[in-house]
Amino acid sequence: MQKCSVCNLPETYETIEFDENGVCNICRQKDFKDEKINWQKRAEMLAELIEKHRGKYEYDCIVPFSGGKDSTYTLWYLVKKFNVRPLVVQFNHGFMRDTLMENNLRTFKKLGVDVISFTPNWKLVKRLMLETLVRKGDFCWHCHTGIFAYPMHVALKYQVPLIFWGEPSSEYTAYYDYQDEEIECVDETRFNRYINLGITAEDMYGMIKDDYQCDPRELTPYTYPPLRDLKRLKYQSVCLGSFIPWDVKANTKLIQEELGWQGDQVEGMPWDEYSYEKIECSMQGMRDYIKYLKRGYSRVSQMVALDLRNERISKEYGDKLVAEYEGKKPPSLTLFLDYLGITEDQFNQIVAKTVVPPFKPDFDNMEYAPKTHDFDRWYREDEQDKGIIFKTKVAD
Ligand SMILES: [Zn+2]
Repeated sequence: MQKCSVCNLPETYETIEFDENGVCNICRQKDFKDEKINWQKRAEMLAELIEKHRGKYEYDCIVPFSGGKDSTYTLWYLVKKFNVRPLVVQFNHGFMRDTLMENNLRTFKKLGVDVISFTPNWKLVKRLMLETLVRKGDFCWHCHTGIFAYPMHVALKYQVPLIFWGEPSSEYTAYYDYQDEEIECVDETRFNRYINLGITAEDMYGMIKDDYQCDPRELTPYTYPPLRDLKRLKYQSVCLGSFIPWDVKANTKLIQEELGWQGDQVEGMPWDEYSYEKIECSMQGMRDYIKYLKRGYSRVSQMVALDLRNERISKEYGDKLVAEYEGKKPPSLTLFLDYLGITEDQFNQIVAKTVVPPFKPDFDNMEYAPKTHDFDRWYREDEQDKGIIFKTKVAD
């Protein structure tokens, strides 16, 4: 596979393109971010935006919050630097881990904020996971659509127009570009472009209603609210990282010091090196595993790419990390199969259909990654609750 000569990302990476020197467009964006963006001007825009909304509504802004490093930093920044009164909105995707829950409680108490937490129906969540796994080789539709859509419903309910997300997507992909002087809007266009995998909640209802007992209202948290309602609210949904230069490592260090934020182990990752990345979800190891089977790289490569791009590690060390950690089978695979009620063979057959050439996975020779410290506490289904409760048993 062709790889970027700077960051090593392969040609199977989403939105990647290479220039005549073999350097990828995401590396080029980083140069632009460092050299061309007028961050002073952006900081003034941020202050104006906040002052425009301050004190006019029940809350100054809404902060969608997973408890990962980015949303935690965003909340800290807005409360401490601007003294805003935010409404924190949490969408619990069903896989939040103990360390994360402890981080969240500590952060909320230390910052003194109001919080709304929403947890959708688990039985429906499992059915949604199976549907998008089969159709897209990606089981996270419920999580992505829920995280991005649900806070917008809350914005409408409370009539709070300003919504602050954390990291801009331009750090990782080229769906949006730092080079567009426009600020990346976290809106329905972006939602449809790459959040919902091309499946709206209405589509989803149509896909599952014949075999699964479901009230269409159960899909509401996954719908993007009507544009006319959002426009009437004059909503502004933006990333803090569009206004201040985003530096994951520095941000993480700060929330560790200021809020006692703890990192965690993620399956298949170098734990000492990257303890701060994607600790929000006990199924992250599964997500990374599928990515590897489909595209021939996983999160290790992505994290190494970011460090190479920022000249924080040597190529040799990056290669060593990738060789040692990438492409391992997560122990959570057994839990995942129980949740969805499928066998590993069925799982492999589903994923095989979504492989991105020229990569070819070797399903039979995947070693297991070690178990994380909290693996034994992750949710397990009783025998009668395993899998999905279909209306009529669908033949194998
Ligand atoms: Zn690159």
